[in-house]
Amino acid sequence: MVIIQGNFRKKRPIAFTLVELMIVIGIIGILAAIALPNFQRARDNAREKKCFEFSSLLTRTSELFYIDQKVYASDPLSLAPYLSNGNLPTCPTKGKYQWVPGTELGGMDGQKVQCSIHGAASTTFGG
Ligand SMILES: [Zn+2]
Repeated sequence: MVIIQGNFRKKRPIAFTLVELMIVIGIIGILAAIALPNFQRARDNAREKKCFEFSSLLTRTSELFYIDQKVYASDPLSLAPYLSNGNLPTCPTKGKYQWVPGTELGGMDGQKVQCSIHGAASTTFGG
């Protein structure tokens, strides 16, 4: 009869087994697969909202320019003096702002600004 003395548990080094590591890595992978598309969608949503805010700001500034000059601005740079810091806002997704006929309230007697990627917000007022 062989008597084994000592506690083998204490001598065993503290470490994870390969299976434990694979399970943890798998769980992290599943969580990342769920979270990353949601994060990307939230980021795109935020950029679109920011672009709408900028296009609305440019439209309102364009109306201010019209009230002041009695003609609509021919290029965006001419709106810069009407903005508080003199800098023109740019689309966060690198879209180009362009003028299209129409007003924020749906009339066709003015010009409004829309983005080449995002379009324009439905309305400046509450939209
Ligand atoms: Zn845009």
